[in-house]
This record gives sequence, structure tokens and C-alpha cells, in this order.
Amino acid sequence: MPVIRNASFVATCPDDSVQANVGLVEHGTVVWEGDSILWVGPEASLPSEYHSLEQIDVRGAGVIPGLIDCHTHLAFGGWREGEFEQRILGVSYLEIAQRGGGILSTVEKTRIASEESLLALCRDRLREMNQLGVTTVECKSGYGLDRETELKILRVYKKAQQLEPTNIISTYLGAHTVPQEFRHDRKSYIQLVLELAEQIASETLASFCDIFIEESAFTVIEAREILTHALQQGLQVKVHSDQLSNLGGTQMAAELGALSADHLEQISQQGIDALKRSGTVAVSLPLASLYTFQPPLDARKLIQCEVPVAVATDFNPGSAPSSHLPLALLLACTLNRMTPAEALKGATIYAARALGIASERGSIEPGKKADICVLTTPNVEHWLYNFGEARCQLTIVNGSVAFSRM
Ligand SMILES: [Zn+2]
Repeated sequence: MPVIRNASFVATCPDDSVQANVGLVEHGTVVWEGDSILWVGPEASLPSEYHSLEQIDVRGAGVIPGLIDCHTHLAFGGWREGEFEQRILGVSYLEIAQRGGGILSTVEKTRIASEESLLALCRDRLREMNQLGVTTVECKSGYGLDRETELKILRVYKKAQQLEPTNIISTYLGAHTVPQEFRHDRKSYIQLVLELAEQIASETLASFCDIFIEESAFTVIEAREILTHALQQGLQVKVHSDQLSNLGGTQMAAELGALSADHLEQISQQGIDALKRSGTVAVSLPLASLYTFQPPLDARKLIQCEVPVAVATDFNPGSAPSSHLPLALLLACTLNRMTPAEALKGATIYAARALGIASERGSIEPGKKADICVLTTPNVEHWLYNFGEARCQLTIVNGSVAFSRM
């Protein structure tokens, strides 16, 4: 049973509706036993029965809940740095796709990658994320777009969950785009997406079904059919919507009770009102705006309209080739105009809500899982303002050390 000593603060990040309230406890401490948190409060009020416990002296560092990256495309073969250069030089997404780049080039490389090699890549990526304080990662399929590869990716996530300390939440994204071989037969591809959703739900290979609603991907009508079917199979749903154009996907997602709607750079007031009514979490992905030179989401407006805003990396080899969640949080401050406190809440308890796990993770409260990150920073604001490497000193997942620099 360990206890943290000499922390400058504990930000508990309570599950309330005030995005800026990180539940600050000055000179706070946390006690946990096994994988569960027992006590949190000011160190001066630590009950005497906890005084003789194993002590972790954090020497003035701060304590936050383990970070939750609620939107990644973790398993993919190959990279696309050539496209990064082309985009800088002004080549459009469409031209890049015509030259054989884009999502379909990653699909090709992911289809030929072995399950073992994808697993090794994912394990390395998860370890890197542990070093930044990340304890839970949502992982999407979507670079297979055929039965064999979609199942392969989801099996990789299941194995990674057994081998790595990180909590993994898997999402089936067969409706990422229509693959080359179905270019002239969308209906048959959608039929395959529906069949696979059934198989994936029955084999419990994913918790969520996601879809990319965009002119180049799927329409709102197609999305409604696929997500309604997924809900009937027992999968929860989320969407990529309003990224490049506003097609009304966010309102449809809210109506179906989606736990999150992600991207939203082009969201309308009707979309914002729909999210507020349904309690759907808006997920901001500022790295994608930065890398694609797109106008960023106005998160300030959403927060003012009382919509909870989570922040994630969207880690993928095209539009967001970085798994650095603290960097995404810095960009949430500078591009999306979220305060550091709001950004922190967006990568902890609100990210947990976006994944349907807020009752067990995302905040430091008695009874919750002991997912904890220790940071060298005097306060939450300074962490994202004086941005630097190696801020994370210690990452605890389910009560055990996943990474330590102490
Ligand atoms: Zn994405």
C-alpha cells in the first residue's frame, strides 16, 4: 500500500460539469492499495493509519490522474513523411491520393504487415506514451478495410492489452474509407462493414464502432445505418464528423447517443446544441489541424455552451503523426483556446467519459483505479506554458509502476 509524499499539488479532476475545475488539493497526497485508490486529500490531514506505509517521495512534483488518449489509430504499417513534405509545398490531399498516397497507401502497408510486427510496433508506441504519463489509450482499426486485416488489427490490440500495462479500449473503424476494390460498389462494402460489426461484437474484439463522415468517406445516411446496426450488436458508437465539411454528422451522432463526436472543426451551432442536449463529449484533435493547415476547433465556444471537450492526439501516419498527448494539450491551449486546466480535464475525466469508463478511471478519487502521473511542475498552468521534455517522472497504471524516471 503506497502513499505519495511531498507533492506540491494533486489535481483530482472530479467528474463534474465545470471544465476548468481540476479539483486542486495543495500539498495533497494519494494512498492506494492494489489497483484502487483509498484516500486523497491534504498531506497534513493524512490519517495516522497511513503514516507507516511505503512512501513515494515526489520532491515537490505535481500529481494528476493518468492521461487518457481517447482517439488514436495506433496500429498501422509504414509512415508517410513524403506526404508531409508535399503538403508543406502546397500539394493538395486529393493530388496526394491520386499519386498513390493517403489512407489507402497505409492500408496497403498494413495489409502486408504481419500480426507480430504490428504488435511489436504497438507495444513500442504504448511504452513511449507511458513515458509521457499516458495510462489509457483508445485504439482504432481502419487500416485494414477487409475482414482479415480489420480482425488482425483488433487481435493485436487484444494481445497488447495482455502484454502491456496500458489500459486499451478498442474501436472498430471499418468505415474509415471505401477501399480500392469496392470503389465501384459502395453497397457491397457497407454490407461487409455491417457483417464485420456483428462478428467483432460477438468475439468482443472492440467496445466501439466509429465512422468517418466526410465527402471523401461516408454520408450521414450511410453512417446512421452502420451505427444503428452496431448499437443493435451491443457496440457503443462514436464518430469522426465536421472535420473538413459540415454534413450534419454531429447531430446524427448525438441523436443516436454517441459517447463522443471527434474533430468538429466545422461544427455548426445546431451541432453544438445537439451535443449539449445528448451529453456527447466533443473531442478536439489539434495535432490534426496543425499538420493539415486546417482552421482549428473553437473549443472556447463549445465550453461556453456547456459542452464537455476532451483532447486527444488522433495519432495516425497521415494527418497526425505524433503520439505526444501533452503536445496536443499545449496545442489545445494555443489553437483551441482552452486553458491548461480545461485541457487537463479534457485528457482525464472527460476523455474517460468519451470512452464510457468515467466511473472507474479519469480522476483521483477513492474507489477509482490507481492510474496516476507525477509531473515536475509547480502547477497545472506552468506544465503546459513552460512546455518541455521529461516532465513526467512516474506513471502508475492500475496501482503498479509502468514508467519511472525517479
Ligand atoms: Zn481519427
